[in-house]
Amino acid sequence: MEYYSEKISRLIAELGSLPGIGSKSAQRLAFHILGMPDEKVKKFTDTILDAKTNVRYCKSCFCLTDRDVCPICSNPNRDKKQIMVVENTKDMAAYERIGKFNGLYHVLNGVISPMLGIGPSDIKIRELIVRLQQEETEEVIIATGSSVEGEATGMYISKLLKPAGIKVSRIANGIPVGGDLEYIDEVTLLRALEGRVTI
Ligand code: ZN
Repeated sequence: MEYYSEKISRLIAELGSLPGIGSKSAQRLAFHILGMPDEKVKKFTDTILDAKTNVRYCKSCFCLTDRDVCPICSNPNRDKKQIMVVENTKDMAAYERIGKFNGLYHVLNGVISPMLGIGPSDIKIRELIVRLQQEETEEVIIATGSSVEGEATGMYISKLLKPAGIKVSRIANGIPVGGDLEYIDEVTLLRALEGRVTI
């Protein structure tokens, strides 16, 4: 049974399709938006469209950015000998927030998940191999999450890199199983990085 007119229901349904937004939150947001001044709503929707249109993958590390090459990859002061492999741009930002890692990143944009039909060729693994052939990398730090998929993806990459003679390390345990890196506090994240082990 519909309590609201069609346009309101559609707005609630769209908002409710976003991650972490249940039906009550969707209703609250919908009525908040309907109560906002027109120009504020326009600015909001323009911002979404602008981000969606202009954000792309960095040509080097494949993080999401609005430039061809992201600010980290184009910073001459970053240590090019270390590359940290992360699942997504949010995890990269989590490590940047602690400000103790001065190397470069490689963003996989996903993890291998046979259940979801995501194989190695669906994430940026080949791009990592190509990168390692061109750059002067000495250590690859695997910082995928500790979910089953994150661990399996880390193992897959380390096996691929072993024959190349590059040092491969894995961030330490202490990250809760299935933990989402972006929600982990900075001390835990720093400990995981400093306590990494060669694999
Ligand atoms: Zn980059």
